[in-house]
Amino acid sequence: MSTVLRRILVTGGAGFLGSHLCERLRAEGHDVLCVDNYFTGRKDNIAHLLGDSLFEAMRHDVTHPLFVEVDEIYNLACPASPIHYQFDPVQTTKTSVIGAINMLGLAKRVKAKILQTSTSEVYGDPTVHPQPESYRGSVNPIGPRACYDEGKRCAETLFFDYHRQHNVRIKVVRIFNTYGPRMHPNDGRVVSNFIVQALKNEPITLYGDGSQTRAFCYVDDMIEGFVRMMDAPDELIGPVNLGNPVETTVAELARLIIELTGARSRIVHRPLPVDDPIQRCPDISAARRLLKWQPQTALRPGLDRTIAYFEKLLTERGETPKRTVAAA
Ligand code: NAD
Ligand code: UDP
Ligand code: UDP
Repeated sequence: MSTVLRRILVTGGAGFLGSHLCERLRAEGHDVLCVDNYFTGRKDNIAHLLGDSLFEAMRHDVTHPLFVEVDEIYNLACPASPIHYQFDPVQTTKTSVIGAINMLGLAKRVKAKILQTSTSEVYGDPTVHPQPESYRGSVNPIGPRACYDEGKRCAETLFFDYHRQHNVRIKVVRIFNTYGPRMHPNDGRVVSNFIVQALKNEPITLYGDGSQTRAFCYVDDMIEGFVRMMDAPDELIGPVNLGNPVETTVAELARLIIELTGARSRIVHRPLPVDDPIQRCPDISAARRLLKWQPQTALRPGLDRTIAYFEKLLTERGETPKRTVAAA
């Protein structure tokens, strides 16, 4: 089966997920335009693509209008880790809301199909487990996470209204915690924090008692989900949950990373951040049924690859890892 080659815009394309997506779309032969303001993204993430004539990188902030001609848009622009999205919370909401309006306006004008990377944070601190798409969530609208959660919720509203009002072809996926190579080493997310701490034999910072849960999806599986959703028939607009439905406590994750790195780190407890969700796990029956998608990479092999990435990164930065036992 031959693929129809398309002009594809990836906003937030220099970030963690965006750079993997650009790579995947180029591998399929598409003409890729990466737009990023480099707030949390890095040119290093896309450096290997820059010599490619069908890959283009543009420095641009999606809160400003963008006039380009494309067939598809993947809208990823938005800081994703709590410390980054809480750094300038007003800008975070603007990025989600005004960014969505601009990208939807663009999609409307050029009749492009547009996919929004929404988040499990739309469910807030959930009272239903695991979370199906029909669950409407439990979000604190005035807490420190609200700039992200409510921004993403409003973006979903805009997507559905542009669809109903202007017939824009939309796709909405709700992403659950995803990890892998090219995560930002200082983004404060649990996987990157624990791995960097372990590689340096520094204390592992467990927030609260570590009994809160998350479900961790490897990046390659997530990208496969994005592409399947974009390529699905126009009638499938979502929202569709994407994530790995294997629930793990944060304390278990800490122990696993210590084991896989052979670290001599001890675990230290820190206060649980405000509004930190206690339990989170996706119900992915819709993705299984409609996209024939489910994660293929288990936590251990996924973490091994991520550890190898961070080990190389720290070595390049002269922050030589003090690992004593090789990872499996
Ligand atoms: P990331 O921070 O690595 O990537 C976001 C990218 O957007 C960065 O390159 C950043 O520079 C760029 N950006 C931010 N504001 C921008 C603006 N105003 N204009 C242009 N570019 C801007 O994070 P990620 O993990 O790759 O997340 C990508 C998307 O997926 C985000 O929308 C995020 O909300 C969503 N998501 C990610 C996860 C996860 O676990 N990684 C979970 C849920 C949702
Ligand atoms: N927009 C854009 N690129 C385009 C078309 C529109 O950035 O190619 C922006 C436009 O500047 C506007 C937003 O998208 O602020 C929403 O556009 P829409 O046409 O829906 O609304 P209007 O222009 O009528 O406010
Ligand atoms: N967490 C932790 N130690 C850290 C970083 C995070 O215990 O050094 C916890 C955090 O409190 C949360 C979970 O790990 O319960 C996931 O945090 P992350 O910031 O990665 O993502 P999110 O809370 O957005 O799911």
